[in-house]
Amino acid sequence: MSPIDMLVNSTIRPDVRAVASYHVADASGFIKLDAMENPYHLPHHLRQVLAQRLADVALNRYPVASYASIKQRINDKLGVPAGYDVILGNGSDELISILCMACAMQDRRAVVVAPTPSFVMYQRSAQFAGMDYVGVPLKADMTLDLPAMLVAIAEHKPALVFLSYPNNPTGNLFAEADIVAIIKALDGFGLAIVDEAYEPFAQQTFMQRLPEFHNLVVMRTVSKLGLAGIRLGYMSAAPQLLAELDKVRPPYNINVLTQVAAEFALDHVEVLNQQAAALRAARADLTAALARMPGVEVFPSAANFILIRVPNSDDVHAKLLSHKVLIKNVSKMHSVLANCLRITVSTPEENSAFLDAFAASLAA
Ligand code: PMP
Repeated sequence: MSPIDMLVNSTIRPDVRAVASYHVADASGFIKLDAMENPYHLPHHLRQVLAQRLADVALNRYPVASYASIKQRINDKLGVPAGYDVILGNGSDELISILCMACAMQDRRAVVVAPTPSFVMYQRSAQFAGMDYVGVPLKADMTLDLPAMLVAIAEHKPALVFLSYPNNPTGNLFAEADIVAIIKALDGFGLAIVDEAYEPFAQQTFMQRLPEFHNLVVMRTVSKLGLAGIRLGYMSAAPQLLAELDKVRPPYNINVLTQVAAEFALDHVEVLNQQAAALRAARADLTAALARMPGVEVFPSAANFILIRVPNSDDVHAKLLSHKVLIKNVSKMHSVLANCLRITVSTPEENSAFLDAFAASLAA
């Protein structure tokens, strides 16, 4: 064994060495429908003003660590209830990691429970923080198995339960009553994290219910709204809880460029909201077009992506790549997703280019 291999083996944890890196496909030259991005740019005139603001940012200074002005805009414009505040993350990915780091215990292995399949970072962050992860399979129709969730909660007494609302990669909203039952079952020992990354497309939220449940955490991101590149997530919870979670956050985790861009974009949030409305309309059109295709099963979506099942997902995925269309093949994630593909909703032009390539790929 070479000296560097020996060094890696003696320093890096075996469970870290055993996992593959988070894979992001190279999308250059492709119609990119794999990552739930908003395909629309900010309008040109707004970008010009933003460019000027960014040019004036003092790159030599650390960010203003309180982040009060971004937080104020989030609280005012994104529906945070009165008396509640947010903490910010470098994407909600970082917030998931902060939650796990804050709740991992040193004298025993704390547990994270989540339905599976769901967003992969719940499991990864739990593992990297040294927590046990328990995935509770969804039912065949992708709905939540509430009795199984309640059994897992009673058995493992998890510190955290992550509920993606709507769920990624299935696109559906779990029943509100089921989520409330889970929040109540965790009362006294665990936090329920309702991850509303796709809220602009679902228009259903637990944010207003924060005052009802002191163990509820609502997490969101501006990524799907059209700002994936700036990396900004936020979460709200009871102030005492939020103050503890904030101690784990790296002090300057939101950089100065993100800070200025986020404030600017939130001052023009109506533009982003209109784009989300266009994508909701496009989702309805794309869903209807897919449902008309023979052999294609379409699952209902409240997000900006659609889950479908085809006769041979690997084959269709490969053929779409040859047509320069990139979607996500989720068929190997979990047995419930056998032969499933996930398509991000895009502009009418890109959706129709996808549909043409998809029809050709199914037929061939
Ligand atoms: N939560 C869910 C359910 C997601 O699907 C994603 C992104 N795919 C995230 C959180 C992370 O979003 P970001 O880090 O871009 O804020």
